[in-house]
Amino acid sequence: MEMKQIIQTQETENGPVRLPVDSETHTYDDWTIAYTKSHILKSVCVNDNACVRGDPSCCELCVYNFTVDLPHLPDMVFHKNVLTICHKGGARLEFNPMDALKLVRNEKLDLKVACSDEWKESRPAADTQEKVKPFDWSFTTEYKGTVNERVRVESTDQKIDMFKLMKREPIYFYHDLTLFEDELHDHGISVLSVKVRVMPSGFYVLLRFFLRVDHVLIRINDTRFHYEKGNDYILRDPNEIAEQLPVVSKVTEKLTILAGEDADVIAKEGSSV
Ligand SMILES: [Zn+2]
Repeated sequence: MEMKQIIQTQETENGPVRLPVDSETHTYDDWTIAYTKSHILKSVCVNDNACVRGDPSCCELCVYNFTVDLPHLPDMVFHKNVLTICHKGGARLEFNPMDALKLVRNEKLDLKVACSDEWKESRPAADTQEKVKPFDWSFTTEYKGTVNERVRVESTDQKIDMFKLMKREPIYFYHDLTLFEDELHDHGISVLSVKVRVMPSGFYVLLRFFLRVDHVLIRINDTRFHYEKGNDYILRDPNEIAEQLPVVSKVTEKLTILAGEDADVIAKEGSSV
């Protein structure tokens, strides 16, 4: 396994700052599995909003805004977090946040629940006003990874054998990357992440979109990929779980930090939590 750290520089008000970009490459049979990982996309245009579409000096934020075409991006876009799985014959499977965000529907969110008024009230006016292009503010995406022209995609009756995957095996390589995350203005969470695991028998990838809108909905879009050693294909198995909330009543607990003497008394009483 080859590990390296590339140092990038970024200009800031206080001069250039060195930012590490992690990357790691693992070779498995005819495959090369690699990731890069770094800081989040800046939320302000470094060229004072003067970037021009297609211009090479266009900042990373504007490249995103021009490409993704959403009224706004998630709070955290890990634009440098990319997982690639390449076959020596040229086939390539990749997971990146930009392709995932391109698939967020640029239309009004169709939550089949009484999307609470409380929630609507909490949204900035820009999100709810009719004049602004409506979009799916939950950032739900049907992204299933990006494949190149060396991969033929077709439906099959085969299923990923989860029992085989549960078999205990040494793990040659494991990594977990967040592609984007948004806290929905403190009303939940929307996160897309990808995990990869390489074992003697093959490799497994889990791409997970997780959404929780507090008191309203939980949604998980999982897409699993499994390659078994010796095969000339990878199985891709998507599934969606959506659950309406509320799920349980909850009790708030207060964890009081005790002063020294109080703590001594409780210790004598043999109290435990
Ligand atoms: Zn810009």
